[in-house]
Amino acid sequence: MNRIYADNCATTKVLPKALAAMIPFFSGEYGNPSAIHSFGLEAKKALDRARNKVAQSLGAMSSEIFFTSGGTESVNWAIYSAAELGQSKGRHIISTAVEHKAVLEFLAKLKSKGYEVTLLTPDRLGRVYPEQLAQIIRDDTILVTMMLANNVVGTTSNLKEFCRISHAKKALFHTDAVQAAGHLPLDVRALDIDMLSISSHKFHGPKGVGALFVKIPKLPKAMIEGGGQERGARSGTENVPGAVGMAVALQEAVRDNQENFTRLTKMRDRLIEMVLTVPKAELTGDPVNRLPGHASFVFEGIGHGANLVSRLNEDGICVSSGAACSASSKEGSHVLAAMGFEGQLAQNTLRVSLSRFNTLQEVELIAQRIAFWVPKIQQARR
Ligand code: PLP
Repeated sequence: MNRIYADNCATTKVLPKALAAMIPFFSGEYGNPSAIHSFGLEAKKALDRARNKVAQSLGAMSSEIFFTSGGTESVNWAIYSAAELGQSKGRHIISTAVEHKAVLEFLAKLKSKGYEVTLLTPDRLGRVYPEQLAQIIRDDTILVTMMLANNVVGTTSNLKEFCRISHAKKALFHTDAVQAAGHLPLDVRALDIDMLSISSHKFHGPKGVGALFVKIPKLPKAMIEGGGQERGARSGTENVPGAVGMAVALQEAVRDNQENFTRLTKMRDRLIEMVLTVPKAELTGDPVNRLPGHASFVFEGIGHGANLVSRLNEDGICVSSGAACSASSKEGSHVLAAMGFEGQLAQNTLRVSLSRFNTLQEVELIAQRIAFWVPKIQQARR
């Protein structure tokens, strides 16, 4: 059976060009970048080139890019650094109720250590507003952390005004750009952001590698101690092939951004149009300001979205019922619950996330199969 992969918010296929760029660093140039012989020097050069490419793709300087093991570490590290840096200013942190668990769980940990955390509540489309931030930000707020694009419902945010309000109170601003990087144009200078987290496997790079942008002169505070790699800020031998693959993937994504954006938006809107003809279907997230390849729905009366995901899987269609890390959980989505989808409805969710490798024909087939299965499941549960 030919399978259709449409779970690109969970992870993406590695771009052949990124894979080809990585291969020499597994078997030929496999040196440790800290070593001073030729193997080490070649690895160090490759790492520097990768850092440069990532920096250029984000409008940053290469000294502002730190490699990590992925989005979760970058996000944890950004919050940790802000907490360390802000010690004399205060212990108040602001975020939103729709963040990824990488943010919310780290904030919960800080809360247990005496930090105060305030979460902005979104509206039904997953949007939060600068006025909400202006109302609650305080002199002792040290950090505002808000995602650029939501992984569950696809809603994207314009963060400029949030950054301005945060800086007026001398609070740092971090964004979890894990779902946005490579899909939306990103410029750290235009955003005037202090920290930004990305993860390679969300934009056709390899898994297990990411980056944290930290605006100089604020060095991130070391959360992992050891041999002092990454200028003493993040110990551990660097993942050279990973960084090389990520840099190529990001560069390609930025180069093709406009073309991919237009094509994916068209396919996404066709999918939404077709799926909304299904009985009791509702689009979740902002219909306009959303990730180009992201379509998410709730269907009343289907029970947990996993029921539908399993039926589609029998057809060879691979989609998800929400965030990959909670795909097997019986609980509803905390994102949908925060947006006001009550009880069971926060569980009846389906997410289709497309990439540059999908075709319109695939998208129409996905929609047809959703339209086939949903009434069947609804009927069986009556
Ligand atoms: N933040 C968001 C918005 C995500 O969607 C994810 C992964 O799904 C992460 C953070 C964590 O990234 P990683 O899987 O690279 O640890």
